[in-house]
Amino acid sequence: DLMLGIETSCDDTGVAIVRPDGSVVASAVASQVELHDRYGGVYPEMASRAHVDAILPTVRKVLDDAGLRPDDLTAIGVTRGPGLIGSLVVGTNSAVGLGDGWGLPVYGVNHLRGHLRSADLDERRVTYPAMLLLVSGGHTLLAHVQESGDVTLVGSTRDDSVGEAYDKVARMLGLGYPGGPAIDRLARTGTPDVDLPRPARDLALDFSFSGLKSAVSRFLAANPEHPPENVAASFVEACLDVLLAKCRTALAQYPSECLVVVGGVAASPQLRERAATLCDESGVALCLPPLRWSTDNGAMIGLAAWDYHARGLRERPRPDTSLTIADW
Ligand code: ATP
Ligand code: FE
Repeated sequence: DLMLGIETSCDDTGVAIVRPDGSVVASAVASQVELHDRYGGVYPEMASRAHVDAILPTVRKVLDDAGLRPDDLTAIGVTRGPGLIGSLVVGTNSAVGLGDGWGLPVYGVNHLRGHLRSADLDERRVTYPAMLLLVSGGHTLLAHVQESGDVTLVGSTRDDSVGEAYDKVARMLGLGYPGGPAIDRLARTGTPDVDLPRPARDLALDFSFSGLKSAVSRFLAANPEHPPENVAASFVEACLDVLLAKCRTALAQYPSECLVVVGGVAASPQLRERAATLCDESGVALCLPPLRWSTDNGAMIGLAAWDYHARGLRERPRPDTSLTIADW
């Protein structure tokens, strides 16, 4: 039982081999960070070309690392959306080609379900019903998840994602790309002494981060000499206050065994600590993916593909940039 997972929705080419219990036999991620750092963000056209160059060597490397041949695989799972269309086309076409060549079924996987399942990689953690906080480069949402795999979206951002806000504030502070980890490191050395808004207080479980981003921009324009580590610390605290307040409300409204926090921003140590405190107070378990499975990777797509396999959701994968967390 070995699933080959392939992820190319954005700027990383991720490939892994995963068992149905979430154990990862081998994994590799070819990163384009240096390429995009030069432009301060992801350049879609270059991202697709970099996937074309990276995908087959990365598949080959993962098979070699695992000491396996294509014959040993059960199936292939590939991200079909959401993401950059050109990048998705490269991934799905490559997966279909490999599946045809090797005589393997290919499942088209929803990237957001991949993030959800990242919390069960290496070992099983999630118990149901679960409250999901997905905080990534393109998404900020809360969803209630049943054991059956049914998902109800209960809140999402009206504008920017929290990851986008991190990346944009990082740029304002001259920290380069990707901004999340850089903001985190800087924030830890500062004092949160800037009064920033806690947006979306009146939006029930929905989020809004563009006002916070603009408030940071206005503050920096008016106070260019203010210590950047204090600006970063204040920004992180404002983001986390909002995220955690919404999680608290969601946990009170929807019966949940645990809070699952996934997506690139779930790599933030500050978010991890605050979520642990909230879960202690709320009496629910906290389920976090290991750090290396928080950002995009092939293993989470491989594990999610086992759900598609179990449901018989086998269809020629068509790229779809409009998938939501509730879709398969
Ligand atoms: P999506 O999953 O919504 O399609 P994506 O796949 O591009 O978006 P991810 O790889 O899940 O996004 O997450 C990337 C985001 O995570 C970036 O915005 C990045 O700044 C942020 N990020 C990564 N590491 C950290 C960290 N340590 N702290 C905060 N943010 C982080
Ligand atoms: Fe992602």
